[in-house]
Amino acid sequence: PVLEELPAAASGLPREDSLRPKRLADYIGQSELKQVLAIAVEATRARQEALDHVLLYGPPGLGKTTMALVLAEELGVRCRITSAPALERPRDIVGLLVNLQPHELLFIDEIHRLNRVAEEILYPAMEDYRLDLTVGKGTTARTRSLDLPPFTLVGATTRAGSLSSPLRDRFGLIQRLEFYGLDELQQIVERAAGLLQIKLEGGAALEVARRCRGTPRIANRLLRRVRDVASVRGHGRIGAPLVAEALSLHRVDDRGLDASDRRLLTLMLEGYGGGPVGLDTLAAGLGEDSATLEAVVEPYLLQLGFLQRTPRGRLVTPAGRNHLGWPAKAAA
Ligand code: ADP
Repeated sequence: PVLEELPAAASGLPREDSLRPKRLADYIGQSELKQVLAIAVEATRARQEALDHVLLYGPPGLGKTTMALVLAEELGVRCRITSAPALERPRDIVGLLVNLQPHELLFIDEIHRLNRVAEEILYPAMEDYRLDLTVGKGTTARTRSLDLPPFTLVGATTRAGSLSSPLRDRFGLIQRLEFYGLDELQQIVERAAGLLQIKLEGGAALEVARRCRGTPRIANRLLRRVRDVASVRGHGRIGAPLVAEALSLHRVDDRGLDASDRRLLTLMLEGYGGGPVGLDTLAAGLGEDSATLEAVVEPYLLQLGFLQRTPRGRLVTPAGRNHLGWPAKAAA
């Protein structure tokens, strides 16, 4: 299968392509997701149909795009890649749909950002493989229908909750991606190091794994930074101390928190006694958009148990205080 390059605007990631696993068997972790999709792929192949539409959701960098490409590879079809902000005009999405071959995948990243018109074009396309086009204007306007080949839409989003329900309901498979465990991250780092011909020894892979926010994209990025430091210093072999040193430059700490994670927790502790404090207040204080804060920054802190969501707002937990070196809160 031929892979289509990501449009420049959506990507910033062509370099990632070399590290993407190609087959389900090489896709590390996400065992539930893989199990569900492996069954769907096998059944689809047996019936010689298009795979049911798939919605993948979860924080950025966990492998949504990669999974779409893996599915295409497993099905032996091509995957077209785009993202919702690139589908501004109706003809953008129509153009993609009419050029699909039977059983091909269409991957739309950030699908929660589709505009209304594009969404309405997708409904009959997803449901009946049909394109409804309005021809002409005013009183002479008529609707014409066009048959599309059976295809699979793979949508990805960091915010499943922001999808309109008519759109969400048209996906047969809705799967969430989880943060990766240390073991899995270590395997991902070792695999990437092999591909990049980096020699890691001792606990070096584990050290990268601990600092990547549970996220393969970050693991790969950190690994490249470690390689830079090693090559500047003239070290051929990379051990854990060199990793720790290289990554301290990048302000990722030993639990994987980056600068935005720490800014959030610090604002909560310094400005609001550790909370509870509302999301919008925090977003305003950080100059961030609250949707981004909720979908991108918070999930990892929640996962670590450093942050809690309560009906009265966000709260820094005792573990979170401890990590930032704050004393435990005195009992009220
Ligand atoms: P998303 O689309 O969720 O933002 P991507 O699919 O672009 O994330 O993944 C980012 C990078 O992380 C990929 O280039 C790939 O190299 C790596 N990656 C993601 N998931 C895995 C995995 N399960 N195993 C190995 N590497 C992975």
